[in-house]
Amino acid sequence: MSPVFNFSAGPAVLPKEVLLEVQNELLDWHGTGMSVMEMSHRGKEFMQIAAEAEEDLRNLMGIPKNYHILFLQGGASTQFAMVPMNLLRGRSSIDFINSGHWSKLAIKEARKYASTNVVASGEESGYANIPPEDTWKRDPEAAYLHYTSNETIGGLEFPYVPNSGDVPLVCDMSSNFLSRPIDVSRFGCIYGGAQKNIGPAGLTIVIIRDDLLGQTVPGTPTMFDYRIHADGDSMYNTPPTFAVYVAGLVFKWLQRQGGLKAIEQRNIEKAALLYETIDTSSGFYICPVDRPFRSRMNVPFRLADESLDEAFVKAAQARNLLQLKGHRAMGGMRASIYNAMPLEGVKALCAFMQDFSKDHR
Ligand SMILES: *Cc1c(COP(=O)(O)O)cnc(C)c1O
Repeated sequence: MSPVFNFSAGPAVLPKEVLLEVQNELLDWHGTGMSVMEMSHRGKEFMQIAAEAEEDLRNLMGIPKNYHILFLQGGASTQFAMVPMNLLRGRSSIDFINSGHWSKLAIKEARKYASTNVVASGEESGYANIPPEDTWKRDPEAAYLHYTSNETIGGLEFPYVPNSGDVPLVCDMSSNFLSRPIDVSRFGCIYGGAQKNIGPAGLTIVIIRDDLLGQTVPGTPTMFDYRIHADGDSMYNTPPTFAVYVAGLVFKWLQRQGGLKAIEQRNIEKAALLYETIDTSSGFYICPVDRPFRSRMNVPFRLADESLDEAFVKAAQARNLLQLKGHRAMGGMRASIYNAMPLEGVKALCAFMQDFSKDHR
C-alpha cells in the first residue's frame, strides 16, 4: 500500500516520529506508570513537561525575556475577543488589515469593544494581494494593529512583517506559527491555535509582551485576563495537559530538524514544487493568489473545469492523498503542507496532479 498523506487544513498532520513517541509513552510516561492524560497538572511530572515545552518554544522562536508564553484553550476564535479586552488599554479604535476570512472574523468580534479601522484590504483584488504598505492609513492613536499572517482558507500569506510604528503589532499566526523564523520583538502579541502547525486541537498559544498586561476592560472575565494566566504560569486553572505535552514533543522534533531556519527551507522547497505544478499545467489548475503573497502552508487551487472536482478528490483519495477538498467558503481544492508534511507527500501530490490533468484534457 502506498503511504497516506494528509493535506487537512486543521486539525492536521503531525510528525510520524512524534506520534510514535506518544504511542510508546501513552500508558507509562517515563516509568511513572501513568499516562500524561492521567497526571495532575500540579504534579512535578506535568510541571516539568510544561516548563520544558515553554523553554523549548522560547528557544525555537528566540522569544525575549520580556514576553510571556501562555498555554490557553478556546482556540484562536476566543482570542478575537480576548485581544481587544486586554489590549484596548483605554483607547477607542483598533487598526486592522483585512486579508480574508479570518481577519474579517477578528474584525467583527473586535467591533463589540471598539471602533475598527481597516488600514488595508485585499478585498478589491479578491484577496490575491495586499496593497503596498506606503498606501496604508494607520492611526497613530490606535490601540494596536492586527493582522493575520497566513489566511488558512484563502491561501494569502504575508511575505513580510508589517510596520506598525509605535502602535503594538498583534498577529493571528494560527496557520504559519513556527513555519519560519520571525523577530518576536516586533510584536506586542502573537496568538494561534495549535491544531494547524503545532499539535492537537485544544491548545491555544499566546505570546504577550509584559508591559501590555493588566489593563483589561471593565467586566473582563477572570479567565479572559492574560495577566491571570501569566501570573499563574498558565496553571490558573487546568491547562489542556495532553495537548501541551504533544506540542512539547513537536518543539523537540523541530529542534532535531535544525530549528526554524531549516524548516523554512523545507517549506520553501515544498511550496515551490506545488506552485510550479499548478503554474505549468497550461491552465488546468489555477491558483487565485498573486505570487508574492502565496502561502507556503495552505495552497488553494481550482480546476479550470469545475465539473471535474469530484473526480479529482476521488482519484486523489484512491492514491491515499487525503483531505484535498477546499473550504466550503472557497470551493475548489486546498493542499495544506504544514511543517509535518514530508517532501515525499508533496511530490506524490504533484505527480498525481500531473497524471490527472493528462487523463482529463
Ligand atoms: C483555524 C484558524 C482560526 C480559528 O481557530 P479555532 O481554533 O478554530 O478557533 C483563526 N485564525 C486562523 C488564521 C486560523 O487558521
